[in-house]
Amino acid sequence: MDADVVVVGGGFVGLQTAYRLHKAGFRVVVVGGEAPRKGASWGNAGLIHQGSATTVPEIMGFWRVVRLALRRGSYISSNPWIALKESLPGGWIWRYARGLKREEMARRGAILAGFILESKRLWLDLIKGEDLDAELLTAGSIEAYFSEELFSLESRVLAEDMAERGYRVDIVDAEGCRELEPLLSENVVGGIYYVDDAWINPAKTLNSFISAIERMGVKILWERAEKASEDREGVSVETGKTSLRGEYVVLALGAWTGRLFKSLGVKIPLIAGRGYLAVTEPVSQRLSRPVFYADEKIVISQTSEGNLRFTSYFELNAPDAPIDRSKIIRMLQKVKGALNLPDKLSVMDEWVGSRPCIPDGLPVIGRLSEKGRIVVATGLCRLGLTLSPSTAILVEDIITGRDNPALRYFSPTRF
Ligand SMILES: Cc1cc2nc3c(=O)[nH]c(=O)nc-3n(C[C@H](O)[C@H](O)[C@H](O)COP(=O)(O)OP(=O)(O)OC[C@H]3O[C@@H](n4cnc5c(N)ncnc54)[C@H](O)[C@@H]3O)c2cc1C
Repeated sequence: MDADVVVVGGGFVGLQTAYRLHKAGFRVVVVGGEAPRKGASWGNAGLIHQGSATTVPEIMGFWRVVRLALRRGSYISSNPWIALKESLPGGWIWRYARGLKREEMARRGAILAGFILESKRLWLDLIKGEDLDAELLTAGSIEAYFSEELFSLESRVLAEDMAERGYRVDIVDAEGCRELEPLLSENVVGGIYYVDDAWINPAKTLNSFISAIERMGVKILWERAEKASEDREGVSVETGKTSLRGEYVVLALGAWTGRLFKSLGVKIPLIAGRGYLAVTEPVSQRLSRPVFYADEKIVISQTSEGNLRFTSYFELNAPDAPIDRSKIIRMLQKVKGALNLPDKLSVMDEWVGSRPCIPDGLPVIGRLSEKGRIVVATGLCRLGLTLSPSTAILVEDIITGRDNPALRYFSPTRF
């Protein structure tokens, strides 16, 4: 055997799993894919965040989502073929729309809430324990609103959700917003201050985590797995260059996991919800904490060197489809309405990445068959950075045979 566990996927879910299993005494090899930059973990918004698991009223109800997707310049969009195919009964959009009810969204939020608080603690321990270069900020985040109507609609619901889940939020008026973040424009009407949120620079953290894991002696191959299979003695992973044998394989390929599902004959509805990132040259103005521009769904953060990072959009498309530059341009135009920034912002990097999304809003973590050795850990969609440490614990529970009742929510056989 080359390893006890072969982890396929070099994003935060794969790396946290490899780290955890290595610490538990397993011999681990990671097959990371083409390069760290390819995964959603590289260019995301960097928030260790509770907000994405809430019952946002704006997306409640199928027709609201359709109207949003059809609006010109909206943050939600779809490749027309994917929209057509996935809207048919049984398709991803069809399933997703059926779950857009307040009680259903509240149920999922409650399931994820405990993991979010646990994951934050695990992230802080990891960054400190392994001395990761993460640019960690623990000053919370602010969701800033520029429309009275949206603010009054969302703030009440979000505050209720958060209070129920033991997560601290403050609803702040315009003045309070500008005190927290003086760069916010005069047009801000109010905001939600997520006191417990943290922020990390995802690309830096990912690179630093990779180095830390390699220093511990875990081998990472930057190759694409073409095939995974199991037999009586164990599992095999083929990359085209390398053949690996192990006791278990963990499939953590994010939005690309679907390709291996197909070759394994597994039917799990997984789609790429693509998001965009623009990074500017450093500016002299400083943000105190990440700002979520709620009306346009843009997260604005800043690296320690002063580069502004803008992330936004939810685009249903193939994970490897080319970047749509018009979205980057639109995002830069919109952001000027929210913050007092220099007139000219020079973009030094653009990126698009794929959130792995499941229509019922919960991840898929479990064995593909009852006693099988192929374990899957994907589908963390908007919360994969946040929840990757807890996901790794669940994978460890599966492999060590520890009973964890939470796993029933995430079963790959639930569809
Ligand atoms: C714009 C944007 C903003 C986001 N903001 C946040 C946020 O603020 N907070 C939060 O918690 N989450 C956020 N997310 C979501 C988060 O980034 C993802 O949920 C998370 O990164 C998923 O991690 P993963 O390891 O499952 O997948 P990925 O990070 O996508 O990793 C998958 C890995 O598999 C590799 N791979 C692909 N094919 C193969 C193959 N054949 N063989 C081997 N390896 C392969 C890829 O190269 C990659 O390394 C955001 C996402 C986006 C796009």
